[in-house]
Amino acid sequence: MNMITNHLPTAELQALDAAHHMHPFTDANGLATKGARIITRGKGVWLTDSEGNQIIDGMAGLWCVNIGYGRKSLAEVAARQMEELAYYNTFFQTTHVPAIALAAKIAELAPGDLNHVFFAGSGSEANDTNIRLVRRYWQVKGQPDKRVIIARKNGYHGSTMGGGSLGGMSPIHAHGGMIDGIVHIDQPYWWGEGEDMTEADFGLARAKQLEDKILELGVENVAAFIGEPIQGAGGVIVPPATYWPEIQRICDKYGILLIADEVITGFGRTGNWFGSQTFGIKPHIMTIAKGLSSGYQPIGGSIVCDEVAAVVAEGGEFFHGYTYSGHPVAAAVALENLRVIQEEGIIDHVRTVAHPYLKERWDALTDHPLVGEAKLVGLMGSIALTPDKAKRAKFASEAGTVGFKTRERCFANNLIMRHVGDRMIISPPLVITPAEIDVLIERAKKSLDESYAILKAEGLMVAKQE
Ligand SMILES: *Cc1c(COP(=O)(O)O)cnc(C)c1O
Repeated sequence: MNMITNHLPTAELQALDAAHHMHPFTDANGLATKGARIITRGKGVWLTDSEGNQIIDGMAGLWCVNIGYGRKSLAEVAARQMEELAYYNTFFQTTHVPAIALAAKIAELAPGDLNHVFFAGSGSEANDTNIRLVRRYWQVKGQPDKRVIIARKNGYHGSTMGGGSLGGMSPIHAHGGMIDGIVHIDQPYWWGEGEDMTEADFGLARAKQLEDKILELGVENVAAFIGEPIQGAGGVIVPPATYWPEIQRICDKYGILLIADEVITGFGRTGNWFGSQTFGIKPHIMTIAKGLSSGYQPIGGSIVCDEVAAVVAEGGEFFHGYTYSGHPVAAAVALENLRVIQEEGIIDHVRTVAHPYLKERWDALTDHPLVGEAKLVGLMGSIALTPDKAKRAKFASEAGTVGFKTRERCFANNLIMRHVGDRMIISPPLVITPAEIDVLIERAKKSLDESYAILKAEGLMVAKQE
């Protein structure tokens, strides 16, 4: 084993972690008992832990390390920027070169008239900005009652009060409540909720809920609709092909603003710069974060169309901003990340090499007795675990039991593949090579085999009676 010696022994680190470090989205006592895995290094698609294990990162961290770990040029840019200008703000009639250059670059890459960027420190913050931005837009236009935002159940938009409220996850709402003026419609999840409908009809039906909700609330009260092109944290839910065109038609018909949350789907994940291009969506605002800097620095933002930016500007000062909006080091690193994506042709690599190679092998996982559907758009994939594929059945055990057991096998086999309920999801670095995809698939199959054996032995391959 390749032991790393420049830190305390793992057990001591775990004890300190349990004593002092409050983890996000974690059962603290459960973690303290088990001890957290300590990641010490990253290179390409590979992580090393404090015990020297070589782990293949099927999740690109949290969907963010698009260009892979260990890029020297980003480290160099950060060091240089810190020496030159470590910090300055963009409030009060000042600006700096990295924020200017990054905003201009994003405007160049973003489709249509999405030409203006409001910077934030994260995706959650950017969505908080969006709430204020769309409400301010209608206020300036003399329609201050237009403030309700329609979102989806099982959508994820972050975990600040605003982001968590836009998201449609009841466990998040249960811890701290929701802000006002946000309502949710059902998600376009055909495998789990489509029953006897065709995918196409189901997509239309779920989109039609937006129209019904607008009419129920009164269009004079509705500001915007927000959705992820593909739901990520909800389980990589790829909507039926009929869904987004119908959502677009409804937003256009009623003149409400459309926000595409591109925090995961932006910057190459779906095989285009933005998921909106993959699905033909024309949003007024895009939320970005994660792949914007490949996770090398915390940065997010809202890309805003000409009209919305002009109206908000007409209203005079917009009382909103973050100390670190457009932080120079984060902006310089993000700019270098975009240069790497562009100059190395990483999105082409996704489209012509990695996606086709993985797609064939990912789809073949449906031959496994535990796997129902397999979905893969660009390098964002999911498989549904099921006790009965023909019926698209759920397990009789509590939702997530089987997914968790399967994830534990992945963990043991040094593959990072997450579970959301009883779906397994991947979102590897975009630079993954065919040889690395072979390793990912081999470890996934081994984990599925082991999980299947455990489930059979424990009597868990049983369908829920609907
Ligand atoms: C991760 C995520 C967010 C929140 O971003 P943070 O940087 O964690 O605040 C928002 N929207 C989507 C779609 C995400 O996946």
